[in-house]
Amino acid sequence: MKDLSDQDFINNVPLTITQPRWSDEWFRIAGPCAVESQEQINTTCAALVKMSIPYLRAGAFKPLTFPYRGPTCYELRDEGLQILQLAKETYDIKVVTEVTDVRNVDHVEEVADILQVGSRNMYNYGLLERLGSVSKPVLLKRHFGASLRDWFGASEYIIKNGNNKIIFCERGVSAPHTHSPTARFIADIQIIPHVKRLTNLPIIIDPSHATFDRELVPRMTYAAVAAGADGYIIEAHPTPMNAAVDPLNAVTFSCLQEIDNTSKKIKSIV
Ligand code: PEP
Ligand code: MN
Repeated sequence: MKDLSDQDFINNVPLTITQPRWSDEWFRIAGPCAVESQEQINTTCAALVKMSIPYLRAGAFKPLTFPYRGPTCYELRDEGLQILQLAKETYDIKVVTEVTDVRNVDHVEEVADILQVGSRNMYNYGLLERLGSVSKPVLLKRHFGASLRDWFGASEYIIKNGNNKIIFCERGVSAPHTHSPTARFIADIQIIPHVKRLTNLPIIIDPSHATFDRELVPRMTYAAVAAGADGYIIEAHPTPMNAAVDPLNAVTFSCLQEIDNTSKKIKSIV
């Protein structure tokens, strides 16, 4: 960790550190991993509106491990964006969705209220530079192997090119020992106070990808909120076990309601 407190480090990332606070929002974002159908998105929107959760998350463009796409491997791309657009016209909801490639920034920007950079793209400097000219906030996920210095370096690419509306998102890091066969990452709760100590930019937690285990999602959200997180992004699905992507971590809407209520209480205490 020594290099993180070096004056050299500070000098190398002045913009991320010196930005004024651009938002005091408590970010509450939930929804399926992937856009699957209009019905799935509408059902989710109706549930979110009922809970007053302002942001729907759902990926139209997905960074899937294998390049094959089929009925059980969803990436609806432009059709997915159209589904999200229609949902926005029907429900009082804002959309967070991923932009995977510099070539689809224009399309995603038309629909998204917040553009998500996935963990794998945190090092995609061409994409980050392009997002500097977008007027909407960018949710910048941490790569699962990135140090805080690398993460701030990525945000620096966006800010230097004109957009300081960054929302950092901790989504779990690779660790030599995970705790169950399906776990690939561990939630790095400790990074939250580190980020808050160094910058005014908000940081939220993604407990879904950090755990890949729906039973752990509530408690990891609470731990992050207690550590100072400015909100959450959680995978929730009308029928979690049937989710086309990430069925292990999606929570039900009633679980989401419970997480939302308890998070608010913890936030008010800390
Ligand atoms: C996602 O949020 O849909 C996603 C793919 O997450 P990550 O980039 O953190 O793996
Ligand atoms: Mn997912």
